[in-house]
Amino acid sequence: MPALPAKLPNTGTTIFTVMSALAAEHGAVNLGQGFPDFGADPALLQAVTEAMAAGHNQYPPMTGVPALRLGVAAKLNALYGAAYDADRDITITAGGTQGLITALHACVGAGDEVLIIEPAYDSYDPAIRLAGAVPVGVPMTMDYRLDWAAVRAAITPRTRALVLNTPHNPSGRVATADDLRELERLAEQHDLFVVSDEVYEHMVFDGAPHQSVARYPALRERSFLVSSFGKNFHVTGWKVGFVAAPPTLSAAFRRLHQYTVFTVHTPTQHALAAYLADPAPWQALSAFYQAKRDAFRAALDGTPLKLLPCEGTYFQTVDYRAVSTHGALPELDFARWLTTEIGVAAIPLSVFYQQPQQRGHVRFCFAKRDDTLAEAAQRLARLG
Ligand code: PMP
Ligand code: GLN
Repeated sequence: MPALPAKLPNTGTTIFTVMSALAAEHGAVNLGQGFPDFGADPALLQAVTEAMAAGHNQYPPMTGVPALRLGVAAKLNALYGAAYDADRDITITAGGTQGLITALHACVGAGDEVLIIEPAYDSYDPAIRLAGAVPVGVPMTMDYRLDWAAVRAAITPRTRALVLNTPHNPSGRVATADDLRELERLAEQHDLFVVSDEVYEHMVFDGAPHQSVARYPALRERSFLVSSFGKNFHVTGWKVGFVAAPPTLSAAFRRLHQYTVFTVHTPTQHALAAYLADPAPWQALSAFYQAKRDAFRAALDGTPLKLLPCEGTYFQTVDYRAVSTHGALPELDFARWLTTEIGVAAIPLSVFYQQPQQRGHVRFCFAKRDDTLAEAAQRLARLG
C-alpha cells in the first residue's frame, strides 16, 4: 500500500467527539458538545415529511432551493439592511462547517496568512492549513474581548484574511459596533478578506444587537457571511447552513462548492424555506436562551465555579480555579475529571489555541432541558 499523504499530521480527534464519548461512557450529563437535548418545532419536522411526500426528492439547483435562498436574502435585508441577491449571492451549504472551509479555500492559498482570534473554534485552523495557508492565532484580551492592537500587530504583508466569530464560541462574548467599524477600517487598509462565522446570530442577550458584517457596506464587500440553521432551529444534525457574499466572492465560492458538495438535502431545504417565512421562531430565540442562561447561572451560584460574562451563544464559560480539590489541574484534565468523577461533561478552552493556554476555564452548553440543567447543577453543587 502506498503511504497516505500526510494531511493534518498533528491533528487529533475533535474535542467535541472526545468529550461526548467520555460523557456517554461515564453516564455524565453532557454539557460539552454544543447541541440541544430537546426537540425541534413539530411543524418544522412535519414540513420535511410533507416536502418528501410532495416529491421534492431530486437534486435541487447547485446553489440551493430558490425559495430558501429568497428567504435568507429577505431576512438579511430585514435584519441588517443588506441587499444580497438570492440567485447570485446566497449559497446553501452543508452546515456552517462546510461554509467556512469552502469560503477559506475560495479566498486564501499557499503562503497566505489568515488571522484567527483565539480562543478559536476548532475547525478554523485545519481548514486554513488544508488550503495551504498559515493560521496565525491572535489572542483576545484577558476578559475575552477583541484586541485590535494585537490584531494590528499580527498583520504582515502576507496576511490575506481574518476569521471573525460573533457571538463568540467558546467565550460567549459578542462583538460591538466599534469592533466592526475597526475591522472595516483594517480590512480596507490592508486589503483583507473576512470570513465571518455568525452561526449564533440569533442568540444575543440583554437587548444587544447582533453585529453582522452585513451591516457595514465596505466590510460586506469583502466578507463571506457564514450561518447555520442547525443552531437557530434546534436541528444541529441536519447540517444545513448558508454563505452570503458579494458576486465575485460568491462566484469563487461556488466554483469549489459545485465539486465538493454540489448541493444539500432537498426536502430539508423546502421545509426550512417554508419555516423561515415566519420570523417568530428566530425572533424568540434570544429570549429563550437568555432565560436558560439566567437559570443555569443562578443554579451555579454557591459553587466554587466563577461565572464569566455570557453575552451570546448557548455557552457559559467558568473559571474553576477555586475548586479546592482539583482547581489546579490543567483544563483538559479538569474537564475529564469533571466528566468521570462529578458526572458533568465540559469543554476545556485550552483546545482552542495553537499554544494551549491554562487559564482554568471550561465551557458548559446550556442548550438543554430545564431538568437536564438542574441535574447538572445538582452534581456541580458537590464541588468543594
Ligand atoms: N462555527 C461555530 C462557532 C460553531 O460553534 C459551530 C458548531 N456548532 C459551527 C461553526 C459549525 O456549524 P454546523 O454544525 O452548522 O456545521
Ligand atoms: N459547534 C459545537 C460546539 O462548539 C460542536 C460541533 C461539533 O461537534 N463539531 O460545541
